This record gives sequence, structure tokens and C-alpha cells, in this order.
Amino acid sequence: MKKIKFEELMLSREMQKAISDLGFEEATPIQSEAIPVLLERHDAIGQAQTGTGKTAAFGIPAIEMLNKSDKNLQAVVLCPTRELAIQVAEEMSKLAKYKKDVCFLPVYGGQPIERQLKALKKGVQVVIGTPGRVMDHMERGTIDLSQVKLIVLDEADEMLDMGFRDDIEFILKNTPKSRQTVMFSATMPKPILELTKKYLKSPKNIKVVHEVLTVPNTEQIYYEIKEKNKLEALCRVIDLYNLKLALVFSNTKRGVDELVEHLQARGYSADGLHGDMKQSTREKVMGRFRKGSTEILVATDVAARGLDVDNVEAVFNYDMPQDEEYYVHRIGRTGRAGKSGKAFTFVTGRELYKLKDIQKYTKTKLKLNPIPSFDDVEEVRVNLFFDTVKKTIDEGSLKKYANYVKNLLDEEYNSLDIAAALVKMNLFQERSTSDSNNGEIENDKVKGGSLRPVRLFLNVGKKDKIRPGDILGAIAGETGIPGKVIGEIDMYDKFSFVNVPEKYVDEILDIMQDNQIRGKRINIEVANKKS
Ligand code: ADP
Ligand code: MG
Repeated sequence: MKKIKFEELMLSREMQKAISDLGFEEATPIQSEAIPVLLERHDAIGQAQTGTGKTAAFGIPAIEMLNKSDKNLQAVVLCPTRELAIQVAEEMSKLAKYKKDVCFLPVYGGQPIERQLKALKKGVQVVIGTPGRVMDHMERGTIDLSQVKLIVLDEADEMLDMGFRDDIEFILKNTPKSRQTVMFSATMPKPILELTKKYLKSPKNIKVVHEVLTVPNTEQIYYEIKEKNKLEALCRVIDLYNLKLALVFSNTKRGVDELVEHLQARGYSADGLHGDMKQSTREKVMGRFRKGSTEILVATDVAARGLDVDNVEAVFNYDMPQDEEYYVHRIGRTGRAGKSGKAFTFVTGRELYKLKDIQKYTKTKLKLNPIPSFDDVEEVRVNLFFDTVKKTIDEGSLKKYANYVKNLLDEEYNSLDIAAALVKMNLFQERSTSDSNNGEIENDKVKGGSLRPVRLFLNVGKKDKIRPGDILGAIAGETGIPGKVIGEIDMYDKFSFVNVPEKYVDEILDIMQDNQIRGKRINIEVANKKS
């Protein structure tokens, strides 16, 4: 893998300074290869995965070749989406930080065209925009491409997928033939090759495909699992690794919506991202995730493209990617910039062949891990809790609280029991997979019998003005067990029966015993077989 220092590239002093302000230590492989080629004004086709630094790979040479005293439009960067246009414009502005008088303008649909017109009138040397909007401006005569020296097609495959082919061709046909044309594309399907044949002049190929900067730092794990156990397993893995910023991939928009709903219901801070959402909503969602106020972002492949978040701790392939290239794109979102990341892949029985394809394609081996058990997760959470306990002890000022505890000790409770109770209470308070389900998922199957219905007896009935909904609500509300798994409720005047899955029985008895329903203290026990 070729990697060089930025100092070795023949860049201007202003550019070197801007790069060092950005904190880039060395050029990424695609940058190392592309920058010299582009500086020599060759046409080029660059192929590299997401997160490999393509923006600077074309951004640096594009800025270096600008003639500052020329106020004409000199370079155009085409991007598939508005978010990408904004991101690229931002990164390019940072790279041009010490170049006075260089003017960039992102143009995209959805933004009032008047604002763009005003800026264009003042003289813009670089336009970064979506093909549709750039074409609009050409047709209005508000963008003049006659002096353009460089066109960059960023994420060309994505632009074609989005139906921008005609617009792109229109733009290319209306710029001087002498221009330099540079194309970046993660994949090279046939339509892309056709486009390059038609519009690029003996382009240099720059390909950094298997050497994604991110993979070496990413631990790749897979779980064999049944579809119906995925949600529970996801929650356990998140809890086990105490993840605070995770990206979860689903293959469908509906999958995204459903998963977000389930995660939120379990108390996780989760948000979704997919193509059906309004642009403004998508931006808000991405902003929250970038800031870390959303911990889990569930997204489709297309929606996640161009999402530039650096410190994603883990990527989940909740659904296996449809294509092995997608796998690389997805996991490229973690382990960036030297940080270590994790990639978890859920594989259902029939998908094992896909896993083989992925391993062949990436030339890596994924490690099979057992799905964490409820006890594994609990142990981790207890340890985390103990860490905060230790810290609190170290900080001191506990005298007042110690006195409260002393009162309990005087009542003949022992300190070990008191501490154990506090740990237990803490575990139940936190969001947790255990609140909703502590059944064992064995890898790829649910332990036999755990869902078998068990009949519980309650000492309250119709005469207490209690309805079935009250019982259901009380059990679900107090224990966090989903209401829908609670079965039939039979009510009599002075008592009732409720059917619940066996695996929840202990938890329900534990929490509901001596609890109240509609102000009535209840007694609850497993019904005797005869009843
Ligand atoms: P791509 O377009 O290939 O998906 P980006 O250009 O969006 O990747 O870059 C991904 C991230 O890596 C950005 O945050 C960018 O600032 C950062 N980056 C780019 N080049 C370097 C470098 N040489 N060293 C460290 N970080 C870099
Ligand atoms: Mg990019």
C-alpha cells in the first residue's frame, strides 16, 4: 500500500498549512496515488471505499490549480446528494483556508435559488453541486461553464443510480473539451465504464480497493442467529460492549422504521435514516448522531452513504448486505483514523454462503462468536456500576449517606444484603435487555420450554373493580415485559388467572409480589395445577 507524507507532494505552503491544521498526518493511499496524477492534469478514474479520503484526493489538486486572479468558474464538483455537496464544500473550504480570494459555492435543490444567484454574480471559482441543480443554472444562464478547467464526478456510481446520467452528460457536453475530467466511484459497473470511455481522455486508473484504510483496525465478528432473535441479540451486544455510537444497517426502509421503534421502546436512544425521509429531517438525524445525542443510528445503505461520522464504535449488519462490496462500505464507517472499531454481522442459516463470499472478497476471516448470554451482559453492567461506585467512594463526602446505611445496619440488616439489593435495584432501573426479556437465546435457537405458558394466580378480581387491562398494564408496566407476550387473563369475582411465558415467571413473581394494582395490594403465585 502506497502512502506518502504530504510534504513529499509538491504542494503550496498555504495548502501544507491547511492540511496540517486539519490534523492529517499522512496522505491516505488514494490521496498518495491521485494527487500527483491530478496535479499533472491527467484525466483519472479513482476507485476506493468510503472513508478513504477521496474528498481531499481531488480537493487538494483542484484548489492548487485555481487561478486566483481569474474570477471565472474554473472547477465543478458533482455530487449525488445535497448533504455530500455541503460536506465536500466544507472540506474544500478548510483546505483553502489560507488561500485568499478563492470562492466556493455549493448549489443544490431545496435551497432558494436567489441566494445562489447572488453568490454566483459575485464570482465563484468552484461550484459543488448536484447535477440537477447545476443543469438548472446552466439553462438559466447563471452558470457559465466556458472557462471550466476541471470537472470532478464524486460518487459517480451513486449519481447514476439516482438517475442523474442525462444531466451529467449534458454538463460534460457543455464544457470545453480541453478540460480535465476526474471521476470517483466506489464501484465500476458497466454504465460507469461507458461514461468514462465517452468523456475521459486516456484516463489513469487509480484503484485502492482491498486496502481500505479502516479494515485493519476493525474487529469483525459474526453471530449465527434466527431472524426473530436478532433484536434481542442486538441489544445484548450493545449492552455487552457498552456502545455509545453504533451504526446499524437494515436492508429495507421498513426494517429501519421497525427497528428504531423497537429500540426506542427498550429505552435506547435510536434514530433512523432512509431515503423516504425529508431532506431536512435527514439532516437533523445526522446532526444528532454526529453530536452523539443519538447513540444508535439505523440506516439503509443508500441513506448512509456520505454520512461522515468519524468515531462510530461499531457497525452492525443487522441484515446481511446484499452485495459484498456493501459490506466493505458499511464496515468502513468504523475503525477510522487509527481508532479501533468493531463490525458485527448477523447471519441466518440460509445466509452462510453470503458470508463465504464476503470473506473471499475482503480476504479476511470473520470470527464466529456466541451470542452473549443474559448473564454475560449482566456481569458487564455490574462491573460498570462498580466502577462508578468505586469512583464515588474515592471522591469522598459520603458521611451523611453512611449514616443512613448505619440505621439499616442497626435494624439488623447486614451490609452484604444491603449492597446486593442496591446493585439489583440499579440493574432494574437502567435500560436493559433484561427488563424486557431475560430468556436465553441459544445460538440460533430459543431454549426449549421457556415460552411455555404458565398460569399465575392473583388474589384480586372483578369485585375489586379491576379489569383485565389493569392487570396487563400493571405487569407490563412494573416489569417492562412487553404486554403482547402476556397471555389470556381470566377474571373471577375475587381472584384472577393470567398466563405468561415460563421464562418470565420468576421475574414477574419477584416484582409483582406485594405490589399494588389499583391501590389493592396483591398476592401472586403460580396457580396450582388443578385450577
Ligand atoms: P470518502 O469520500 O473516501 O468517503 P472522505 O473524503 O469523506 O472519504 O474522508 C473521510 C474522513 O477522513 C474525513 O473526516 C476526512 O476529513 C478524513 N481524512 C481525509 N484524509 C485524511 C488523512 N490523510 N488523514 C486523516 N484523515 C483524513
Ligand atoms: Mg466522499
